[in-house]
Amino acid sequence: MRWSRFFLYTLKETPKDAVTPSHIYLVRGGYIKQVAAGIYDFTPIGKMVLDNIRAIIKEEMDKAGAQEVMLSFITPYELWEETGRAKKYGDELLRIEDRKGQKFVLSPTNEESVVDLVRNYVKSYKQLPVNLYQINLKFRDEARPRFGLLRGREFIMKDAYSFHATRDDLDREFNLMQETYEKIFSKMGLDFRVVEADSGAIGGTGSREFMVLANTGEDDIVVCSECNYAANIEVAKRNHIKKENPVKTQEIEEIYTPDIKTIDEVSKFTETPKDFIVKAVVKKAVFDNGEEEIVVFFLRGNDELEETKAKNAVGAIDLVDASEEEIEKAGLIPGYIGPFGLPSNIKYIIDDDLRMAEELVCGANKKDYHIKGAGLLDANLLGNLTIYRDIAKVKEGDLCPKCGAPLKITKGIEVGHIFKLGTAYSEPMNATFLDENGKAKPFIMGCYGIGVSRLIAAAIEQNHDDRGIIWPKEIAPFVVDIIVGDVKKTDQVEFAEKLYEDLVNAGVKTILDDRTERFGPKIADFELVGFPVGVIVGKKLKNGKVEVRDRKTGEKFEVDKDVVFEKVM
Ligand code: ATP
Ligand code: MG
Ligand code: MG
Ligand code: MG
Repeated sequence: MRWSRFFLYTLKETPKDAVTPSHIYLVRGGYIKQVAAGIYDFTPIGKMVLDNIRAIIKEEMDKAGAQEVMLSFITPYELWEETGRAKKYGDELLRIEDRKGQKFVLSPTNEESVVDLVRNYVKSYKQLPVNLYQINLKFRDEARPRFGLLRGREFIMKDAYSFHATRDDLDREFNLMQETYEKIFSKMGLDFRVVEADSGAIGGTGSREFMVLANTGEDDIVVCSECNYAANIEVAKRNHIKKENPVKTQEIEEIYTPDIKTIDEVSKFTETPKDFIVKAVVKKAVFDNGEEEIVVFFLRGNDELEETKAKNAVGAIDLVDASEEEIEKAGLIPGYIGPFGLPSNIKYIIDDDLRMAEELVCGANKKDYHIKGAGLLDANLLGNLTIYRDIAKVKEGDLCPKCGAPLKITKGIEVGHIFKLGTAYSEPMNATFLDENGKAKPFIMGCYGIGVSRLIAAAIEQNHDDRGIIWPKEIAPFVVDIIVGDVKKTDQVEFAEKLYEDLVNAGVKTILDDRTERFGPKIADFELVGFPVGVIVGKKLKNGKVEVRDRKTGEKFEVDKDVVFEKVM
C-alpha cells in the first residue's frame, strides 16, 4: 500500500468521550469512526485488522472441524418466543417491526436461529455431532456502550453452536473448543487466561471465559501466581472463600413457599427446562443485629446432578414467568422472578452478587425494591439458609485452592466464552433427533463465542505505549512501514520503492509512506498507527545506510542498505 493513495487519516486530537487507550488510538489512528453511540464504521485499515483476526479464527475453527455458516442477522421474534427469551432477554434485545407489522429482532446471539436451522435437517443420531459457526454482526442495545470497540452496541462476534447425542460427546467438543481458543488467542500474540465462569441465567453445567489481561478490563479475575488456576471473581467467591464466621441468621421464618416441590411440576406449567430449578423459597431472616431481611432465593438443580451438587447450587435465575392465572392465584407481582412472580410483600432481593440480584427483578419495577449483593448465600434443599456477609472479597494474597500459592487479583477483558448449554434451547424448541433405539431426544448443545471486534481493542489495551498502538505482528495491518525521509530526493524514493516491491513480493505486509509530509509527522504516525517495524530511508542512504526501528522496544539499528531486506523479512 502506498500511503499517499491510502484512505488513512490520523488525528491529533483525542476524542472527547474516549478514555481507554484502545478507543483513543483506534480513533486517532484512523481505524474507526463513530456513527452513533456504540456503532462504528471501519476504515480500510480497520477492516484489515478485523480480517486478520477473522482469518486466524476461521483457520483454527475449520481445523477443529467446525463448519462456517451465515445466519440471518434479523431473526423472527417468534423464534425468541419459543424459548421464552423474547421477554427474558430484556432491553438489550432490539425488537423491530416490518411494514406488515411482523416482529423481528436484531440478533444479539443466535441460539434460536441455529436450533431452528438444525432441527430442520438433522433427524438422526447418525448426523451428529455437528458444530456450526459464523463470524457475523451482532446487536445488543447495551445500557452503557463505552470504550469504543470494547463495548459496542453493533459488534462482530464469532459464534459457534454444537449439537450432540450424548453429554460425553459435548464434553469432548467443549474441550476441543477450549484448545482451539487457546490456539487462536496465542496466535494473536495475546496474554490471556482461561477462567472458570458462572453459568448464569442460561443455566448449563460448564462455562469458561477467556480473559485478555489488561488493567482497563471490566472483569475482575483471580489468578494464581504459581499454577494455572484462574477464576472469574464471582466463581472464586463462591468456590474458594473460606466460610469462616458467617453471620448466622438467628431465626428463619418461612413466610412463603410456592406449592411446587418437584421439578416435574415446575416444568409442567412453564417453559423452563427441567434441569433449571428445584424449588423457590421466600424467607424472613432476622440477623444477630436485629436487622430483618426478606429473601427470595431459588434452589437450582439439575436432574442429572447428584444431590450434593444441587445442595450447593443456590442462586437466582431469571426464569420464564408464570402464566397470568398462576400469578394471580398466588397474589404475585408479575415479573421474571422465577416461574412464580414475586410475592407482593417482598421488598428485599438478595443474591450472591448484585448483578444477579438485579436480574431477578427484571420485568418488575426496580425502584420498588432494595436490591443487594449479599456476598455468599448458602442453602440446601431442606430450605435452611445461611447468609455469609461481607466475605464477597477475594483478597490479594489469599491462597490458591489448587496449589496454595498466593492469589493475585487482576483485570481482564472477556474476549471469549464457551458454554455447555445442555438441552436448555433444544427442549423448549422441540428440537429432537432419534437415538439408536428410535427414541426422540432433544439435542445436547454447546455454544462458543469470541468477541471479534472487541479483540481489536483488547489487543491494543495490552499492547500500546503513550505514543500509540504496538500491534502484535500476527494481526498488524502492515508489519513494515517504509518511511521516505524526503520524497523530493530521487535516490530515497527509488530505494524505498524497490524495497517495497521486494517485500510485497515476498509476502510481507508493507506500507510505503510516500506522502509529501515532513519526517516528524511520518514518524509520529508510524508510532500512533502502530506498525511493528519501521524502515527509514533518509539522508544516511548516501552512505549506504538505512535505519530500522522496532516499534515495541524502541530500538534503532543502522543497517547496511543491501541487507535491510533480510533484516526485516
Ligand atoms: P460482557 O460480560 O462483556 O457483557 P457477555 O458475557 O454479555 O459479555 P457473551 O454473551 O458471552 O458476552 O458473548 C460472547 C462474546 O462476545 C463475549 O465474550 C465478548 O467477547 C463479545 N461481546 C459481548 N458483548 C459485546 C459488546 N457489547 N461489544 C463487543 N463485544 C461483545
Ligand atoms: Mg453482556
Ligand atoms: Mg460476560
Ligand atoms: Mg459471556
